[in-house]
This record gives sequence, C-alpha cells and structure tokens, in this order.
Amino acid sequence: MSVAGSPIELVGRTPLVRLREIGRETPDVELYAKLEYFNPGGSVKDRAALQMVTDALADGRFEKGKVLIDSTSGNTGISLSWIGAAMGFAVALVMPSNVSSARKRITRAYGAEQIFSDPLEGSDGAIRHVREVIAREPGRYFYPDQYSNPSNPRAHYLTTAPEIWEQTRGRVTHFVAGVGTTGTVMGTSARLREFNPAVRIVAVEPDEPMHGLEGLKHLATSIVPPIYDARARDETLFIPTDEGWDVTERLVKEEGLSVGHSSGANLAGALRLARRLQQAGQKAVVVTVFCDRADRYFEWP
Ligand code: PMP
Repeated sequence: MSVAGSPIELVGRTPLVRLREIGRETPDVELYAKLEYFNPGGSVKDRAALQMVTDALADGRFEKGKVLIDSTSGNTGISLSWIGAAMGFAVALVMPSNVSSARKRITRAYGAEQIFSDPLEGSDGAIRHVREVIAREPGRYFYPDQYSNPSNPRAHYLTTAPEIWEQTRGRVTHFVAGVGTTGTVMGTSARLREFNPAVRIVAVEPDEPMHGLEGLKHLATSIVPPIYDARARDETLFIPTDEGWDVTERLVKEEGLSVGHSSGANLAGALRLARRLQQAGQKAVVVTVFCDRADRYFEWP
C-alpha cells in the first residue's frame, strides 16, 4: 500500500466494478461502473474541479488572493470547497436556495462562502446570479465557469478515459454517461475514440425539464453548455425519473451499491442499451459512471 502526500493526489484512479447481478439479464453484455464517489470529495466533480484550478494557476488566470467563485447545485461546489481548503484559497459558491441542507452543510464545513439564488430558476438562475456578483467587482474573483471551461472535459480526457481503457484492457465497446455540464461525456468520448474509433458513446438525459435526477440536465430546455458538442455522442437516451429511481433502488438491493439518482439513470440507460445489444446477438463491454453516493442526498433534522 502506498501513502499519498496530500488528498489532492487521491483524485482519480477510481475503481471499476462489474455489475454481475443486474447484468444476469444480458449475459453477452458485460456491465461495469466506474465508482467516482471514491474521489476524496465524494464525486466525479473532483476531477474537473482540480483540473480547472491547476490549469488556471499554471497560466495565471488564477492566483492566491483571488476568490474562486462558481455556480453549482452541489458536487462541483463540494469539490471546489475541499480543494480550496487543501490548497489554501477562498471559495464562494452561488447555489439555488433549495439545494439540500446536506449540501449546504458540507460546503460550509470546508469554509466556503454561500450565496443563494432564486430556487425557481434552478441551476440556470445560479449561473445568471454568479455573473451579476462578478460584474460588481470583476478583479476580485476567478470564475472557472465549469460550463464553458475546457479544463472540465480535459480532466476526463486526461484521466477518466485512460483509466477505463486500462481497466477494461482496451475491451470497452460502449460508454454511457449522463450530462450535466457535459464534461464527463465530452472529455471521455474524445479520448476513448482516439484509443478506438469504434467505441460507441451514449449520453443520458432526463426525459423532461422538471425531473428528479439531480446532477443531470434536460438540454433542450436548458442553457446548453458551451463545452457541449452533440457530435461527441452517437445517441442520447432520455430516462424518466421513475426509471432512474427504480434502477437506483435495484442497485442498493441487488449489488449493495448505494448511489445517487444520476447513477441510477446512467445505469438505466446502460440497461436499455444492453437489452438492445443482447437482442441483436451482440457481445459488448458497457461502461458507465456512478457519480456520487446516496448519502450525499440524505436529509436529517
Ligand atoms: N451526476 C451528478 C450527481 C453530478 O453532480 C453531475 C455534475 N453536474 C453529473 C452527473 C454530470 O456530470 P457532468 O457535469 O460531467 O456532465
């Protein structure tokens, strides 16, 4: 066993697990999940947050003394908060005021300043609000803007994709991932296609604007992230909230994996794909992403 010099070194290199029980239904299709909650901040967003900070420190867009500010409904805020604490810079987060109390508590515990935006305007409202705050005092802030920052997909290009390639020994045939900022799909797909142009990329979106799959975006009715390019994926599967929640429930009971609803939605997409491939008599190795754990969403009095 090796010893890390700092938690920063522990970002990435997450385990890949085979889903044998749930995969029984489609014996010719191997199902795997990348367990992103093994990151120190408990979610996939540690990768993007760290890459945005290190790239900006390297080229001078960010320097200690400035406040890092961003809009986030949760996981990116948690990642930026702990990375700020570990590296010694101040963090301010704009979030809709109705995000779970668990999330508010976690970011506050790391010392991040919290600014609340209109709950009815969701994550798009938080984006508009952060821009107003910066416009008042532009020199004070570094705004990584995860929706348009190329370091976000670059994190997945540099780390997530090579890890999947190595962990499947180059056998991956399909990659399935939900879209929020779209960083995971954009970066991972670009690198996987370099390794093997035949790898199929499947994006997952909620099937309607008002949904219960936290972390995911219904792109047709959202501000489309500038980093997104629809050519990065071969198809999009639209998952109803009920289906995502049901698969999340199955994961706890059948695999012993307690994950957030976006992970259930990702696997719901992977299962639809697996059934289709099985029916077509195709062998396949399908990899999806489990972004965070269920306990992140638990409320307590
Ligand atoms: N699931 C969860 C729980 C998330 O927090 C996010 C990030 N918003 C995603 C999925 C989507 O990831 P990405 O931003 O890379 O598209």
